[in-house]
Amino acid sequence: MTETESSFELILSTITDGVVVVDQLGKVVYANRSAELIFERGALLGKDLAVPLHPDATFQDINLIRRSGIGWAELRSAPVTWNNKPAYVIGVRDITERKENEISMRQAAAVIESTREGLMVTDTDKFIVRINPAFTEITGYTEAEVIGKTPQILRSGRHDAKFYADMWENILNTGHWQGEIWNRRKNGETYPELMSIDVVKDSAGRICNYVSVFTDISKIINTQSELDFLAHHDPLTRLPNRLLLMSRLQHGIQRAQRDGKYLALLMIDLDRFKDINDSFGHVVGDELLQLVAGKLLVHLREIDTICRLGGDEFTVLLEDVAGTEDAAHVASDIIRDLSEPYCLSNGAEVRIGASVGISIFPGHGTTPEQMLQQADSALYQAKIEGRGCFTYFSESLTLAARERIDIEVRLRRAIQQGELRVYYHPQVEIGSGRITGAEALVRWQDPVEGLILPARFIHIAEVTGLIGEVDDWVLRETCEQGQRWRAAGLPPLTLAVNLSAYQFLQGDISDTVAQVLSDSGFPAANLELELTESALMKRETESIQILNQLRGIGVRLAIDDFGTGYSSLAYLKLFPLDVLKIDKRFIDDVPAHRDDMEIVAAIVAMAHTLRLKVLAEGVENELQLTYLKTLGCDQFQGYLCSQPLPAAEFEKLLKDRARVY
Ligand code: C2E
Ligand code: MG
Ligand code: MG
Repeated sequence: MTETESSFELILSTITDGVVVVDQLGKVVYANRSAELIFERGALLGKDLAVPLHPDATFQDINLIRRSGIGWAELRSAPVTWNNKPAYVIGVRDITERKENEISMRQAAAVIESTREGLMVTDTDKFIVRINPAFTEITGYTEAEVIGKTPQILRSGRHDAKFYADMWENILNTGHWQGEIWNRRKNGETYPELMSIDVVKDSAGRICNYVSVFTDISKIINTQSELDFLAHHDPLTRLPNRLLLMSRLQHGIQRAQRDGKYLALLMIDLDRFKDINDSFGHVVGDELLQLVAGKLLVHLREIDTICRLGGDEFTVLLEDVAGTEDAAHVASDIIRDLSEPYCLSNGAEVRIGASVGISIFPGHGTTPEQMLQQADSALYQAKIEGRGCFTYFSESLTLAARERIDIEVRLRRAIQQGELRVYYHPQVEIGSGRITGAEALVRWQDPVEGLILPARFIHIAEVTGLIGEVDDWVLRETCEQGQRWRAAGLPPLTLAVNLSAYQFLQGDISDTVAQVLSDSGFPAANLELELTESALMKRETESIQILNQLRGIGVRLAIDDFGTGYSSLAYLKLFPLDVLKIDKRFIDDVPAHRDDMEIVAAIVAMAHTLRLKVLAEGVENELQLTYLKTLGCDQFQGYLCSQPLPAAEFEKLLKDRARVY
């Protein structure tokens, strides 16, 4: 080796790049130290490197196979003459690290480009230097619009300066911040995002960038707030539900207590809603409920709460009412409005009604539960009083409600155990003074309480449907008793039986009556059925039909309690009737009240022109009887003759006093 050769050798051994010379067959004829380190194959001399070689001097990246795995090298080769033979010299640079960095950079870039999370990189002066496509998608700003600006352009204005100061303090102290932040899109819309900010430091530990990654959580928040909403609202009408009502009521009571104001709770129940729901189906029923909700909202002031308790029950909480009368005004407005016809999307026009029960604070209860319960009791009373009206709660109504439940349970048992009785109230022919018949009145012989009058249980029986059994039993018992009296040879009697509206409209009432008559043998002509005006008016055309069927059987028909309902004589013409019973309340004030006397006179006269017999109820004294006599009234019933009597006593009365007046 010449001196030049050996210094050349020395030079080659100090450079970090590898230098290899291969002969024409590819065998290594020279390798420096670095080459042996790069290839990791020990002494390279004489080995076959199997690297593709170019005849021209070129740069190329090739895979470098190393013992410990695959790395990267950059090769540059050139033909040389080595020991007088043609050969190639190859410069080898290990670029594995650079290559791997490049790959991971590309992967990172792909992630950044494709992620759904928004990304924003700022420099230390907080100028935006980089964003990703998701940033544009979320905020609406393109790269050109934000590069060089600060994130201030995204501020929603929802957070105060302290919020941002705290955030930056956290970032600088811990290198990290994460939280919910409201920002503003380019279109002005504010939205919540979940954001995390990290600092990026250089190798010397100095902050060089801030990277923030964020997710638009408005959809999640919307779902969450919808869930919150639904927890406190009715999904159909979107009105507050019972839960929200109770909490508003609680606060309302506290406020009213503090300010000395009134608070009113109106409980509304729709009349006939069930009919519409049943005949048109639930979709129409739902639509109707939404229309009702809309109408109710018209009556709402900002501070009031309208709520749907479920079904067709709504409540209105009126706060800060001047007096109890205010609630009555709102209630009657609501009843009027809800009774207007509704046009449904199926083209049908329907009408419903509404009843309202009212409880007032202070006065009716001090807790939300009490107020609700008392409005409910008042509503029940409103419905008894004929629907389409409102009723206030009072303490007596609660007691009535409690009794109602108690009576219902006991009455059911009483029917089964045969505790019902029929009492007979004599009917006297005024002209002859003779008892010509009796009204059958039901009594309940309770083993503990004794005799219970119908006023205490007829309403309850009507509401619960028990009335059907009661009326059927009274009808059968009366006909059987009448037949026994006939068999015993008593003078012929007309026996009158009361029919409740419920029973009257049952549909098969004429079948029932015919059956009872044929079973008992009691003549149809001696049976009179008493109906009230309201029963007849409930379903006018149907009523006429049923009355005609009953007439066909041969029974007599009477209108009971005349004067307490519609009291339209013209209307009465429509119905085939035989007897009109003037209600006791008009007789009570005879002869003290001129007005009532004139009404009685007019009723008698007009009934006669309609060819109806007239019976006066509740005659208690001779003066009343004398007056009725002058009017030509046909019959009377009343304590003047007798109280209602059990069958045996009535029979005795008949025998003792063949002629009473
Ligand atoms: P109503 O059909 O009008 O019966 C007349 C009521 O007035 C009876 O009361 C009778 O005892 C009472 N009364 C008659 N004359 C006088 C009088 O001079 N002075 C006073 N103070 N009262 C008199 P009652 O028996 O308590 O019946 C009340 C109501 O209960 C009846 O009124 C009727 O609507 C109903 N009711 C009675 N029995 C039955 C029944 O079997 N079925 C049905 N559905 N209702 C019945
Ligand atoms: Mg009656
Ligand atoms: Mg009556």
